[in-house]
Amino acid sequence: MLYLFNTLTRQKEKFVPLSEGEVKIYTCGPTVYDRVHIGNLRTFMFEDILRRYLQYKGFKVIQTMNITDIDDKTIKGALASGKSLKEYTQHYTQLFFIDIDTLHIEHAEFYPHATDHIDEMIVLIKKLLDHNLAYESKGSIYYRISAFPDYGKLSHLESKELIDGFRIDSDEYEKESMKDFALWKISKEGEPSWETEIGKGRPGWHIECSVMAMKYLGETFDIHAGGVDLIFPHHENEIAQSEGATGKQFVRYWLHSEHLIVDSEKMSKSKGNFYTATDIIEKGTDPLTLRFLLMSVHYRKQLNFTSSSLVQAREAVERLKNFALRLTTEHFREGHSAEKIISLCQNAKLHFEEAMDDDLNISLALASVFELVRHCNIIADANELTKGDATLILNYLAQFDKVFGIIFIEKQEIPEQEILALIEERIQARKDKQYKKADELRDYLLMKGIILEDTKTSTRWKRKLNAELPKEEL
Ligand code: AMP
Ligand code: ZN
Repeated sequence: MLYLFNTLTRQKEKFVPLSEGEVKIYTCGPTVYDRVHIGNLRTFMFEDILRRYLQYKGFKVIQTMNITDIDDKTIKGALASGKSLKEYTQHYTQLFFIDIDTLHIEHAEFYPHATDHIDEMIVLIKKLLDHNLAYESKGSIYYRISAFPDYGKLSHLESKELIDGFRIDSDEYEKESMKDFALWKISKEGEPSWETEIGKGRPGWHIECSVMAMKYLGETFDIHAGGVDLIFPHHENEIAQSEGATGKQFVRYWLHSEHLIVDSEKMSKSKGNFYTATDIIEKGTDPLTLRFLLMSVHYRKQLNFTSSSLVQAREAVERLKNFALRLTTEHFREGHSAEKIISLCQNAKLHFEEAMDDDLNISLALASVFELVRHCNIIADANELTKGDATLILNYLAQFDKVFGIIFIEKQEIPEQEILALIEERIQARKDKQYKKADELRDYLLMKGIILEDTKTSTRWKRKLNAELPKEEL
C-alpha cells in the first residue's frame, strides 16, 4: 500500500485514488521566460518518479502540467527581446521540452497554455464575483480572502504570518486587504491584454492553475504537486479560488518537493552557481548521470548539488549499466534460475516496493537494487551464474527500471541528415548575427550527444562517446 506525505494534513496518508485504478495529477509547470534550471528539473524529476511509480503499481495516470506563458516575467522578457509574447514564450517552451526529453522525463497527458484558457478564467472569476469572494477595484479584480475562512489551511500559517508573507505590491494599493490577491489585472500600456466581459486586462498567475487543473482533471482530483516555494501563496490561492467557486474539495493529496541547492547555497544567477541542464552536460556529464543525481535524494530532503555528487551519480549509473551489460553479453553456463537467485531478486523487489510505498523513498529503493547487483556480481565472479539466472535478474532489473529510467535507456541517436540540417541552420543564424539562436542550436545538438567544432572555413561534428567524456567538474 502506497503512503504519501500530504502537506494539507502534514501526515503520511494511505493513497487511495478517487476512481479505482486511475490517478489524476496536476503539476505546476515552467514559467517560460528563460531556460529551466536544474532546480526546476529536480521538481520535474520528482514528479516523473511519482508518475512512474504509480504506473508501476498498475494505475493509469492522467497528468496535466501547465505552461505559464503569461506573467510579469514573460511580459518583461518579451518586451526586452522585441518579440511578441507568443513568439518569445514558444521558444522557451520548445527548450523546456528539449530539457525534459534529454532527462527522459515522461510526458504528461496535457500541457495546456495559460493564454489558451482566458475564456475559462473569466468564467471562474465571474463565479467568484457572484459568490462575493471577489471584488472589482480600479479595473482590477481581487480575491477577498476574509470571505474564505479556510484560507491558510495548506500552509498552516497564522493570519499575521500570512500578511507578512505577501509581498506588498505597490501597484495594488487599491486592495481591500493586504492579503487579497489579483485575479485579473487591468491592462497597462505596452502589456498584452484581452478585451473581456470583466474588462480589458490580463489574468493573475494563480487563476490559471485553478482553471486548467479543473478543466483537465475535474473539480476534485487526486494529487497536486510542485516545489515547496509554491505552497504559499500559489497553492493556498488555488484552493481559495477553486473551493470558493465549487464548494468542493479541490485536491486530495498535496505533494511538495524540497529545493535543489548548489554547494550548500541557494542557486542564483548573481552568485554564479546557477545551472541549466545544458551547462552541466556541456561540462561532460552524461544526461543519465544528471537524471540519476536529480532523482536519487528523497524528494522531501534538500538536494545538495556538488561536483562530488555528480561523480558519485556517474559511478552509480555505470555500475547499474555495466551489470546489465554483463548479464546480456557474458557467456553463462546453461541452466535454470537457482533458488538462491530467485530469492535474492524477490527480496530486492520487496525492499524496493516497501521503500517506494513509504512516501517514494527512492534512495532506499536504489540501495536494495545495488545490494542485488553486489550479490549477483559475486556469484557471477565465482562462475556460479546460469543463463536462466541472468534472464531472471534482467527481468527484475527491467521492472525496477520502469521507475528509474536509467538502466535500459539507450543513448538518443540523432540521424545524420538532421544533424547536417541543423548545422546549416546554425551557419545561417551566425551569418544573420542571430548568435543566441546559433548557440541554442549548438546546445540542442550537444544535448543529443553531438559535438561541434568550428574551423575557419566550416563546422565539423562528431558523436560524443562515453569513453571520451572528461571528468565532471562544476
Ligand atoms: P517556475 O518555472 O519558477 O514556476 O518553477 C517550476 C517548478 O520548479 C515549480 O514547481 C517550482 O516550485 C520548482 N522550483 C523552483 N526553484 C526550484 C529549486 N531551486 N529546486 C527545486 N525546485 C524548484
Ligand atoms: Zn501552479
